Amino acid sequence: MSATMTSHATELPRGSVTEELGFPSDPDNLYLQTVNTMLDSAELINLKHRTRIILAQPKNEIMVHFPVKMDDGHHKLFKGYRIQHNNACGPYKGGFRFHSDVHLDDVKSLAFLMTMKCAVVRIPFGGGKGGVKVNPRELSEGELQRVSRRYCSAIMDQIGPDVDIPAPDVGTNSQIMAWFADTYMMSSSHQHHDALRVVTGKPVEFGGSAGREKATGQGVADTLAEMLPGIGIPLEGMTVSLLGFGNVNGWGGRILQDMGAKVVTVMDHTGAIRNDRGIDCHDLFDYNMKTGGVAGYDKADAIEEEDFYRTKVDVFIPGALEQMIKAKQAEWLDCRVMAEAANAPCDPSGDRKLTEKGIEVIPAILANAGGVTVSYFEWVQNKNAVTWSAEQVDRELNRHMVVAAQRTLANRNKLKCSLRNAAFATALEHIGDVYKVRGIFP
Ligand code: NAD
Repeated sequence: MSATMTSHATELPRGSVTEELGFPSDPDNLYLQTVNTMLDSAELINLKHRTRIILAQPKNEIMVHFPVKMDDGHHKLFKGYRIQHNNACGPYKGGFRFHSDVHLDDVKSLAFLMTMKCAVVRIPFGGGKGGVKVNPRELSEGELQRVSRRYCSAIMDQIGPDVDIPAPDVGTNSQIMAWFADTYMMSSSHQHHDALRVVTGKPVEFGGSAGREKATGQGVADTLAEMLPGIGIPLEGMTVSLLGFGNVNGWGGRILQDMGAKVVTVMDHTGAIRNDRGIDCHDLFDYNMKTGGVAGYDKADAIEEEDFYRTKVDVFIPGALEQMIKAKQAEWLDCRVMAEAANAPCDPSGDRKLTEKGIEVIPAILANAGGVTVSYFEWVQNKNAVTWSAEQVDRELNRHMVVAAQRTLANRNKLKCSLRNAAFATALEHIGDVYKVRGIFP
């Protein structure tokens, strides 16, 4: 497999779809970035026009405003979203985030990526995403619980265990999922235990699955293990740089280290560190749990942001927020492969620069699909009232990731395109087949 294969992103006609749907032509809009990748990939496989226009817009855009009583007695109004992008293959599925910077277009884009992700790994779900505009770090535990419960009650009529199944994302966790499920189950029409399938990512004692917490990082590692040998990078001794050291990269870093990789730089919201002899991710994880960040870790040197990006490594793994890699950061990067652990970590200008430089990008819809895959296992276990062992979860996850990686590689070789277009094409083939047999109602 060659690392210099070019992207078709700027060469293929996007047809009349964006004009037909009246989209603005803003090259740096995150939602349009996702739509355009879909349209380019659709062109490669000659996807029907009707499927392209259906996928170019979400099916439902739900926006809610709800008041919550704060600890000081005053009421504050919160804005929340739930985007249901597509449910041709199964119930809408996707996390919800609590973040002060939640915007409609971003949630739409993330919901779209969920549709693609579920189709790449062939789990029977569609795509959705939600969010509340709030900084959870500024809330007391009581306020956080009330926001979580009011958000659930605001969207309760539009979701459900076989309709739309949320999960954790940035700023939300298993405790919030437990409050969310409890609120849903307390409403008069959902007072049966099966209703706990309404969310995944729950605590293990309340219907959660073994292995969910590490699932996304494990999936990134499984994908790299499957793809890197073909790119000529042996896992043993490969050098890695981690952007973000939260749930995804905290786990991914430790798992890759255990597989023989050497993590040399890490950057999070508190700072960047480097040790050319290797950073012990297990030790750094414990430190991070105590201090809330990697800054001040004394077994590595503190470095500046630019040095972090310029450090030469085999694999760079962005696992922080969306759109952090712009043209400037992409120009600085000195890596052979980027594995997108975060969703849409590159903006369009960053993406173009990576393509120009010949950096092989393993796209998020494949690389970070491990989280939703184990969410699916949780939903299956709840539905059947059974509990899988951690070994069974790991085995099934690995099987799904390996098959998805192989399908993507086969499409990349057949369609002579980037891995991003090949992964989208893999998803679109499946969704196209489903629409073909279902037809369009009426
Ligand atoms: P998290 O909140 O646990 O961790 C986020 C990390 O990003 C933290 O280390 C934080 O310090 C870092 N960060 C935040 N702002 C930063 C900045 N300005 N500069 C450098 N670092 C910064 O989140 P997570 O669950 O690990 O998710 C990370 C990404 O992966 C998100 O984009 C999320 O949507 C995506 N994702 C997560 C899952 C999952 O299962 N958790 C699944 C799929 C995709």
